[in-house]
Amino acid sequence: MTPFNVTILGSSSALPTSCRFSTSQVVRMNEKYLLIDCGEGTQMQLRRYKIRFSRIDHIFISHLHGDHFFGLPGLLSSFSLLGRERDLHIYAHSEIQDYLNCQMRYIKGDEDFKIIHHPLNFKRTDVILDNKKMRVESFPLRHRIPCCGFKISEQKKDPHLLKEMIEKYDIPIADRVKIKEGSDFITSKGDIIPNSRLTKPSSPPRSYAFCTDTMYEEKIIPNIENVNMLYHEATFADDMKDWAEKTYHTTSKQAAEIALKANVGKLAIGHFSARYKNPKILLDEAKSVFSESYLAEDGKVFKIEN
Ligand SMILES: [Zn+2]
Repeated sequence: MTPFNVTILGSSSALPTSCRFSTSQVVRMNEKYLLIDCGEGTQMQLRRYKIRFSRIDHIFISHLHGDHFFGLPGLLSSFSLLGRERDLHIYAHSEIQDYLNCQMRYIKGDEDFKIIHHPLNFKRTDVILDNKKMRVESFPLRHRIPCCGFKISEQKKDPHLLKEMIEKYDIPIADRVKIKEGSDFITSKGDIIPNSRLTKPSSPPRSYAFCTDTMYEEKIIPNIENVNMLYHEATFADDMKDWAEKTYHTTSKQAAEIALKANVGKLAIGHFSARYKNPKILLDEAKSVFSESYLAEDGKVFKIEN
């Protein structure tokens, strides 16, 4: 099966700690790597976890709070030093362009690769990347400043052609494509072999959603419904619910409630306040609502599976 997984590069909130970097993660689908958020030190984490920089062509920035994008200048500088030539797509608030234009003046070897900006829409759901293999949607979260969540889905796959049937009926290559699209096969003697005998359905497309930073917001549920895995921020424990609301963040229990209501496969919580030296309390609270809850830890790899 095509690899589809998420490596957590940073799981802390505003302040990085000695064992947690600021928010960043890499989603791998087959040989494509998507970077979501790029907190300070992201390139160090990419090195530590042996993720090849050159495979990253798309970077998604949820919002312009420093702990979610201050790693970009360093990463872009390294891209330049490594001789990158391929275009780099950055999906973020349009203001990031001013910030990066200023930074790029100090990055050696300018113009060696092109940055293509894709301004995010913070008012409604938007399809921001759609190709043969994957589809990425952005949708508004509820934070102090404009902020987007992202959903990454595999495209629907063609059914599998059964090898024994190809051999049995000696099906020519041209017909195999049509069968994959749903046609029956007519043998040279004129017998009709129904499509259902020739194929077996492929596994349903997998999907992953990323939601940070946000306060408890049920409006996002239609965007993340039934995903195989949800990453949701859980900055505070339940006893700080009022503070979470005031600062536009979520408690671990609330994150689990969203996971439950959206019927997701599993939940990874992250973006922990630096006050939690051991976030076990956050995990326990999440599990009391939604048993398939896990802690995001820097370096941890989560498989996205049906
Ligand atoms: Zn924020």
